[in-house]
Amino acid sequence: MVHRVAVVDEDLCQSKKCGLECIKDCPVNINGEQCIVLPANKVALVSEELCIGCGICVKVCPFDAIDILNLSEELKADKVHQYGVNSFRLFRLPIVRRGQVVGLVGRNGVGKSTALRILAGQLVPNLGDYESEPTWDKFLAYLSGREMKEHFEKIADGELRVSLKPQAVYKLPEAWKRETKLLLERMDERGAIREVVEALNLEGTLGKLVPDLSGGELQRVAVAAAALKDADLYLFDEPSSYNDVYQRLAVSKLIARTAEAGKAVLVVEHDMAFLDYVTDYVQVIYGEPGAYGIVSGLYSSRTGINALLDGYLPQENIRFRDHAVSFGQRAAGETVESEEAIASYTAIRKSYPSFKLEAEGGDITKGTILGVVGANALGKTTFLKIIAGEEKPTRGKVKVGAKVAYKPQYLSSSFKGTVDEFFMSSLGTGLSEPDLQESLVSPLRMEKLLARQMDDLSGGELQKVAIVATMARSAEVYALDEPSAFLDVEDRFVVARAVNKMVKARGKSAIIIDHDLQVVDIVSDRLMVFSGEPGVSGAASKPLAKEDGMNLFLRQVGLTYRRDVNTGRPRVNKPGSKLDREQKERGEYYYVASRREESPEAG
Ligand code: ADP
Ligand code: ADP
Ligand code: MG
Ligand code: MG
Repeated sequence: MVHRVAVVDEDLCQSKKCGLECIKDCPVNINGEQCIVLPANKVALVSEELCIGCGICVKVCPFDAIDILNLSEELKADKVHQYGVNSFRLFRLPIVRRGQVVGLVGRNGVGKSTALRILAGQLVPNLGDYESEPTWDKFLAYLSGREMKEHFEKIADGELRVSLKPQAVYKLPEAWKRETKLLLERMDERGAIREVVEALNLEGTLGKLVPDLSGGELQRVAVAAAALKDADLYLFDEPSSYNDVYQRLAVSKLIARTAEAGKAVLVVEHDMAFLDYVTDYVQVIYGEPGAYGIVSGLYSSRTGINALLDGYLPQENIRFRDHAVSFGQRAAGETVESEEAIASYTAIRKSYPSFKLEAEGGDITKGTILGVVGANALGKTTFLKIIAGEEKPTRGKVKVGAKVAYKPQYLSSSFKGTVDEFFMSSLGTGLSEPDLQESLVSPLRMEKLLARQMDDLSGGELQKVAIVATMARSAEVYALDEPSAFLDVEDRFVVARAVNKMVKARGKSAIIIDHDLQVVDIVSDRLMVFSGEPGVSGAASKPLAKEDGMNLFLRQVGLTYRRDVNTGRPRVNKPGSKLDREQKERGEYYYVASRREESPEAG
């Protein structure tokens, strides 16, 4: 038995511009019943009771606004929340446990933030009855006999203190315009300000006004504010956005310490290495972004992340994606490179009043993707801008024989109009190139975005548009600054693979800055490593062989990686563990197990 779910995207449904195809062509309507109607609010309304699941409306809607999905009947009993008629619904809830860190992972738009707001008591779940006022009593009755009942009894009674680090840290400056120090002092219920500030390296930000903080500083201030509250449950919604690898590590240590102190912790995260490292358990939310999300059972971190990448949940016996997101590892130094330089630069110096960058000279060769790693504020963006011709070096020369397509780190959408109009006006064409269609447009589901207004897009959606717009240009060098920011794990893999494939197939080159090391690993052939003192001076290495680059970088960070025996997925070693010490001794920080992995040919 199935139950029907109809979802109409309010932003996409444009009943004034279409020919009301859904209403005219619905066979139930033709038979004289009212399955799809147009109420006064001008957004099509689909009756889930009358709908026969033929899919005709989905097909005929010129704006891709309707989704009809068939879910198993049993799920109906597990509906926790539905925002409104024909809108997003969440099934089941994550579990939290004292003294442990549970991770929550899934695509953008499957309900992770919704689940967190419910756990925090900020959103009273309506069990699908969006027409009446939801109450905790109704919800508690539903929970009878379930693990989370006690949690919500305390929430309802106001006895459970919850601290939530919200996803949207960019809203913080609107709420607090004064000094960071005053904000943290206000939040500090535990008397732990010095300890937390030190753990997150926030000493330098205390005197700054919150609106003047950089993205990474803002994120860590938000994490600090959440950690300083005295709570029983701590919820961290995407704490690694804007942060570099060091900062991600510092945040993980703080999260681990919070759990060790006996608190329950839940983390939403898209960086798999970080998620794996920081959590004890993982729950996957799967479903259809924007339509519905189902929270899986509790898995060990390793099994949960493998299941996510696999697209198959063993406990539930559910395949939620028809293909695995595989690593298809390329051993370091395996790729054949051309010697032909598309761009080359001499030693470069760039001086700002309070910052200076020194870069060794190098080449960007044809068919090669150069990855760039390093802490924040070491001049990576400055370097990329110099390559892209957006900034002039103080000393040194860049020779780029041809055009550079550049995607900046910070995206803004001042463009007034739809995504489609944006592509037309910035590219002069649509997105019809076959390789672009196949590798990016279709897997990133760009069609769904085309009719949306640019200034309504979420961070992840804007990132996808910017990446596609950059890769759609005809250029010799593609320069992408932090493309994985705000993308979910599936889109990260899509982008990393697509960029690699397209650049090679077109015989072009690329230079890509990113903090998700798995993305860097998949996308790049060579690596450039930035070192130095953040905000003061940066030094950039010449392009290195990938293995040398990773070793150089991870030695600075102090992390080693092993490979998951089943999937080849890189996993961070516990610092000080036997493997960690052995690998450090051998100087094999990243590409170790891949070479030592047992294979029949290895002999
Ligand atoms: P995630 O955190 O996994 O990206 P969210 O929980 O933020 O997902 O959102 C899940 C879905 O619910 C999205 O389609 C979003 O547009 C929708 N949604 C979120 N908040 C509301 C709301 N207040 N009213 C209606 N829809 C909402
Ligand atoms: P990264 O991308 O590695 O985080 P950036 O290149 O953005 O680093 O910045 C490096 C340093 O240079 C930072 O301290 C930043 O404040 C400073 N900086 C960047 N652009 C300018 C500028 N236009 N004027 C003055 N200082 C700048
Ligand atoms: Mg979210
Ligand atoms: Mg930068």
